[in-house]
Amino acid sequence: MIVDVNGLRGDFPLLSSGVVYLDNAATSLKPRAVIEAMREYYEEYTENVHRGMGRLAQRATDEYEGAREAVASLIGAKPDELVFTSGATASVNLVAQGLSWRKGDEIVVTRMEHHSNMLPWVRASRTHGLRLRFVELDEEGRLDFRSLEEALGPRTRLLAITQASNVTGVVNDVKSAARIAHDAGALVLVDGAQSVPHMPVDVRSMGADFLAFSAHKMLGPTGIGGLYVSEGARGEISPPWLGGGIVSDVTGEEYALLEFPHDMEPGTPNIAGAIGFGAAVRYLARLGMDAVLEHESRLTDVALRALRDVDGLRLLGPWRSDRRLGIFSFAIRNHSVDEVAALLSEMSGIEVRSGYHCAQPLHTRYGFRGTTRASLYLYNTEDEVRLLAESLGRISAILG
Ligand code: PLP
Repeated sequence: MIVDVNGLRGDFPLLSSGVVYLDNAATSLKPRAVIEAMREYYEEYTENVHRGMGRLAQRATDEYEGAREAVASLIGAKPDELVFTSGATASVNLVAQGLSWRKGDEIVVTRMEHHSNMLPWVRASRTHGLRLRFVELDEEGRLDFRSLEEALGPRTRLLAITQASNVTGVVNDVKSAARIAHDAGALVLVDGAQSVPHMPVDVRSMGADFLAFSAHKMLGPTGIGGLYVSEGARGEISPPWLGGGIVSDVTGEEYALLEFPHDMEPGTPNIAGAIGFGAAVRYLARLGMDAVLEHESRLTDVALRALRDVDGLRLLGPWRSDRRLGIFSFAIRNHSVDEVAALLSEMSGIEVRSGYHCAQPLHTRYGFRGTTRASLYLYNTEDEVRLLAESLGRISAILG
């Protein structure tokens, strides 16, 4: 299957404004099917879930649980292995706070992590007096497996590793990393915020214990995401938050929790968000994640060739399309990365992001004080990628 870009662009209302949207690593555009699914919930069957016996409540519960099934299926999981959270950040924090840490535990994180998969571990290590160890990167921005092996040891409780960097687009071999970590007796949390939206992901073949991801980067709404927890790892975490909706019996001081994953979702969940997430995932599944990846790989190839011709452009990460997803973070000589982003918007209507992209240690490792970042998705075209490179060429000439 191939992605019919011209056919599907009409599904995204914002594209009719003429914007060249290349800020997909920050958040993606939403197709009409997602907006419509959420509108339907609000206009036709607003009710709480898991509580009422009425027609509306039943429908709301069915749609909410149907969304769980759809999202779980996209990553090769079973519905009862998926917790709805408010996003990847909440998913990582849930594990950091839900794990019962033991004295002497060590946590291993990589130098390429987004702050959302770094700071929760920094805090857990401080709070519980644990040792935090970093895995270093090679010159191209890829994981140094020797450093990984050195960091892991008999005391490692958890390896936190991203499947794809939100700065370099580098895809880590998480399957091998998970195998090595498991051999050392550690749990593995994979940050899938940038991989799940763009490539086929299968939790079982990956071997992760936890997988965190966000709906809003994969055509869905903001404020909703997922945390996959393998059956084996389920006993390792307990709910960090308690309240209504997660208990089967309360007798004052005693209470009995519902079964996983419902014990992890206290209070009224983001029902409309979950329903929108389900619609987003069904949209992606119809296209096929293989086709999405193939389309973006082709664009990445075009982009890398075109960006090579931009005078003074320094790219973070490898120049090879088989080693990265469609995320390009760069600086033009020593010019302000914010100014380059503003000029792209002003001159060509291209939306990108600038700054550290919540990955300051990664930038520091390669001597960058921020970058301008362009990132692709399934609705982007070769023409848009060429326009980006041409515009950057002009900006480079203007800035001198
Ligand atoms: N991890 C990575 C690699 C990301 O790119 C992001 C968002 O930019 C996150 C985690 C956090 O996602 P969210 O802000 O949706 O919680």
